[in-house]
Amino acid sequence: MRRVMTIDTSRCVGCEACVIACKNENRVPDDNYRDWVVQEVRGEYPKVALEIRSERCNHCTDAPCVTNCPTGASHHASDGTVQIDRSKCTGCRACIASCPYGARYAHPDGYVDKCSLCEHRLDRGEPTACEAVCPTSAIVTGDADDPQSEVSKRLRRGSLHVVRPEAGTRPNVYYER
Ligand code: SF4
Ligand code: SF4
Repeated sequence: MRRVMTIDTSRCVGCEACVIACKNENRVPDDNYRDWVVQEVRGEYPKVALEIRSERCNHCTDAPCVTNCPTGASHHASDGTVQIDRSKCTGCRACIASCPYGARYAHPDGYVDKCSLCEHRLDRGEPTACEAVCPTSAIVTGDADDPQSEVSKRLRRGSLHVVRPEAGTRPNVYYER
């Protein structure tokens, strides 16, 4: 199994329901976020387009946060996602410094936190909290190794991109224009 997330930016209206749902689901402290919404203008006048993206940890295949974690707290789970074992985390913040996406924050309880791709919900057969509330169904999470899954169909359409590919981390969150 290889869990990935796909986000259709042409559907995203920037309502930030995903951000609120994530904060509630994962009890994210005030002033911290596991996901956020970015608006980016592309092109030049008069041919300009606005891309609205719901961003989060990219669950990178070549994740510097995993490589630089001195305790093994940050690791790849069997489904390919990047997870944090809180019992091993010393709060040293090496992962925060090495993430090119600013996807992590220091939790007041002494460990580092970030998007877990709602693995607890996926394991129960439920969608991620952000996917569940998205009013335009822009977000779809699933198994890229299953050719029948919705994410596999989206990936086959071939029009997907990742944020800052030049960072070389091989993200597993894909955006569709
Ligand atoms: Fe690690 Fe950052 Fe990639 Fe997430 S986005 S896996 S925190 S390097
Ligand atoms: Fe690893 Fe925790 Fe240090 Fe991050 S803060 S590098 S997860 S021990």
